[in-house]
Amino acid sequence: MSQWEIYALMYAGPVETSRAVTLWNRDFDQNHQRAYYFWCLLGEGGPVVVDAGTHPDTAVERELPSYESPDQVLARLGVDAAAVPHLVLTHLHWDHAGGAGLFPGAQVHVHREEWRFWQEDPVSRRALFQWLRDDPTGRALERARDEGRLVLHDDGDAPLPGLELVAAPGHTPGLMALAADTAQGRAVVGSDCGHTWDNYALDWPSSFICDLPAWLRSMDKLKSLAASERLLIPGHDLAMSQDFPEVAPGVTRLV
Ligand SMILES: [Zn+2]
Repeated sequence: MSQWEIYALMYAGPVETSRAVTLWNRDFDQNHQRAYYFWCLLGEGGPVVVDAGTHPDTAVERELPSYESPDQVLARLGVDAAAVPHLVLTHLHWDHAGGAGLFPGAQVHVHREEWRFWQEDPVSRRALFQWLRDDPTGRALERARDEGRLVLHDDGDAPLPGLELVAAPGHTPGLMALAADTAQGRAVVGSDCGHTWDNYALDWPSSFICDLPAWLRSMDKLKSLAASERLLIPGHDLAMSQDFPEVAPGVTRLV
């Protein structure tokens, strides 16, 4: 059986904001810190990079604190972004997909519904949604498509042994988690399905949700797949850096 190691890579932050950002409509008067991450899975057929961080131009535009280009953070794990064979994009927000162009040789895996929404649905052109994406994302994905590197997926697809793509809509219309067999059992990189572990523990979403009923169903689904609560990995929880062994600056091993 193929087994995978999962590393979290912090490429920006921490930032401090009201806790209401990560807990929908509550705790406005409390502050909390979060950070910006992507992940790298090492195993047979890998490395598999999950999400691409933010493009350097967008990081400047949005004044992202302590930003480092994701390819530089990845190099500290000994992985060359230019040689990565698989990039899984959980969703197409600017802080998760904007750096896709840093992986010029990778097959880029996206859920079919996520691609359809951002490419074809006129609602995605409205200001609210445009604020959540950026131009480098569109450019990188269209290039991947033109070069035959874009792979659109349905729920349950298995890109490599020991890996499964899991549809988990709610944060975005086509968010896709990645389940991986590990030495500790099945782990799930849920990305922004839960911004923090509190979202899973409290059964309460972040403030960035496009479909609440769908989100609640996705929570149940991802919880049922992960071998333990700690193996359901959130998108922006600073505990990923604080509670796990650091293998290089900004890089921790989650499992
Ligand atoms: Zn997001």
